[in-house]
Amino acid sequence: MYDRVYNFAAGPSTLPEEVLQRAGSEIMNYQGTGMSVMEMSHRSPAFQKIFDHTKQQFIKLMHVPDTHEVLFLQGGASTQFSAVPLNFISAAGKADYALTGNFSTIAAKEAKKYGEIHIAYDGKEEGFHHIPRQEELVLSKDASYFHYCANNTIFGTEWNYVPEVSVPLVCDMSSDITSRPVDISKYALIYAGAQKNMAPAGVTVVIIRKDMAGHELPITPLMMNYETLIKKDSMYNTPPCWQIYMLGLVMDWLETKGGVEGMAKIKHQKAMLLYDALENTKVFHLHADPDSRSDMNVTFRTDSAELDAKFVAGAADAGMVNLKGHRLTGGIRASIYNAMPVEGVEKLRDYIIRFDKENR
Ligand SMILES: *Cc1c(COP(=O)(O)O)cnc(C)c1O
Repeated sequence: MYDRVYNFAAGPSTLPEEVLQRAGSEIMNYQGTGMSVMEMSHRSPAFQKIFDHTKQQFIKLMHVPDTHEVLFLQGGASTQFSAVPLNFISAAGKADYALTGNFSTIAAKEAKKYGEIHIAYDGKEEGFHHIPRQEELVLSKDASYFHYCANNTIFGTEWNYVPEVSVPLVCDMSSDITSRPVDISKYALIYAGAQKNMAPAGVTVVIIRKDMAGHELPITPLMMNYETLIKKDSMYNTPPCWQIYMLGLVMDWLETKGGVEGMAKIKHQKAMLLYDALENTKVFHLHADPDSRSDMNVTFRTDSAELDAKFVAGAADAGMVNLKGHRLTGGIRASIYNAMPVEGVEKLRDYIIRFDKENR
């Protein structure tokens, strides 16, 4: 009927087959409305029901407490690079950023437009293969907030602890949200573009502690004003309706898999299938330090760009696609988000072992 590949893309990335089938079955006529969700007014009762369901499921599965609000926004995680300082930096006029990869570096650069940015850690010189330990963070006591990126999608490193800071904590969780339980109460704000681990591209989830809203700089664009967005329940303007619907289907799917607790159990096992195999090869080197390795993005390479390319091409021939590393790093990257079945990871592991033997 169809030929699906194992898609190891970093984002947009693979979605659960059950979700795609369900969306397909409803695409012409959503539950007797005679139209697709793509064609519906965002003010219609049918869509309001979809919106409420998605929000409730997300709150339930992520254990979002009453102190926090969940927003479904547009503009990607990158828009939050600007929205966070615009809304939060007024408290002290300065903020701390930990730079552990590409996106946290861009976020800090963007924030500099609106206040004084202090770099609490910078892994650039050593090539972003390491997540700082708590004692390596140089923190300011009077910052408006501390910003970090939980999982570095390009370099394949991931924080395995929540940094302890005395100021509001802000985190970009774009590429590992819903892969593990999070104590939301520790955070002033979490944001995540959905296209890595949750939904098609086009919706960004923001979880904000309600008392953090309402302190924006006067120049804050209307569409980035958290207070307004909370007041309008994400519908100041037209929200990304289809993506919100898809996010709801993915949350329903996640629930059948034991929620984020269920994912936490299998994601590390999935990742270890690859890390263990790679450690026992001769031709491959892992990028990340053992204590900093990501369970979502496994980054590795051989000693030659030609051999990397041969690996990627051979994988594609065998139905495993998008394994080429990011253009910033080269090498190879396997993104193994929630929706990547363990069978796909096992198939990749077997290919890694075979390739190593044949190319020593
Ligand atoms: C992909 C990604 C981004 C950028 O997301 P957009 O939605 O494309 O703006 C930011 N942060 C992280 C960690 C990412 O993985």
